[in-house]
Amino acid sequence: MRVLIALGGNAMTAPDGRARPEDQIAAVTAAMQPVADLVTAGVEVVLTHGNGPQVGNLLVKNELAAAVVPPVPLDWCVAQTQGTIGLILIDALEYALAARGTARQVATLVTRTRVSADDPAMLRPTKPIGRYLPHDEALPLIEHGQVWEDRGKRGWRRVVASPEPLEILDAAAVCALVDAGLVVVANGGGGIPVVREADGSLRGVEAVIDKDLGAAVLAQAVGAEILVIATDVPQAMLGYDTPEARPVGQVDVATMRRYAEDGHFGSGSMGPKVEAACRFVEAGGHRAVITSVNQIAAAVDDAIGTTVVPTPAAPSSHDHDIHDANREVGPTHA
Ligand code: ADP
Ligand code: MG
Repeated sequence: MRVLIALGGNAMTAPDGRARPEDQIAAVTAAMQPVADLVTAGVEVVLTHGNGPQVGNLLVKNELAAAVVPPVPLDWCVAQTQGTIGLILIDALEYALAARGTARQVATLVTRTRVSADDPAMLRPTKPIGRYLPHDEALPLIEHGQVWEDRGKRGWRRVVASPEPLEILDAAAVCALVDAGLVVVANGGGGIPVVREADGSLRGVEAVIDKDLGAAVLAQAVGAEILVIATDVPQAMLGYDTPEARPVGQVDVATMRRYAEDGHFGSGSMGPKVEAACRFVEAGGHRAVITSVNQIAAAVDDAIGTTVVPTPAAPSSHDHDIHDANREVGPTHA
């Protein structure tokens, strides 16, 4: 069985949100225990991860050091976080595997994800990143072409485009490594956003891809049966943060889409996870699970957390017509 596991920010930061190197290593070490259990049980695992706090930190360095070292573009920042987070993931997972006597190589891959230059999201930056600044400090950055928004009391914050992930350009490399028996970390931070130019070359763009939507594309590309989205809550809730809150257990895609349309899921948080789960199952995935990091192994074995499954096909009179016309080949009449 092949499983894609997407790790949220809290799998890589302290419970209070701190992201010092030692916080990240401690959180990743804990998150890799259930992953090592899965790998030991013979499951083929591909990992992906978020990078919000880490990219935010790199942007601060860019700003503060701009007079001394040239700032690097956002796609480079994403690449850098794939490297560092990938490093601590493979160190922690290899060690957890060794402790279980499981001899499996682990690798991390710098991964590019194609987006469209014509994506309407490219013209409409919406995703807040990095730290808040007072207006006078944001101004020089705005003059350098960045888009900053007045976020009220806390100050100004940079917003960037968050385009749709269309294609994981390094998916074939991920598949080759998984087929060779490696556990692979790929497409961190949703992937390095690139567009294809008319001459075939790739150009990095100042954007960030949602890591859950990227995970759904990668899961499909590597032929995963199950997508596990590991976050800091055990399941998605209806009426979240209200006295009527109730958990969503196993649900079919059509029902889940209705809940989403009814506005039950936070747009920058649970919303993209639900959308990713629905897309994966609609594209042929067997099951997508949204649950907490410590339940990763259980999510693969049982129906746990919020589990999205295909919508059962409703028998229609049209189907009957087709089966009657093909009586000798129709499987339901065999
Ligand atoms: P991650 O860092 O794992 O990607 P996010 O913080 O982006 O996680 O999303 C998880 C958060 O989504 C939860 O901690 C919760 O605060 C929020 N959330 C919003 N709507 C819901 C909902 N309907 N059910 C559960 N959690 C929700
Ligand atoms: Mg979070």
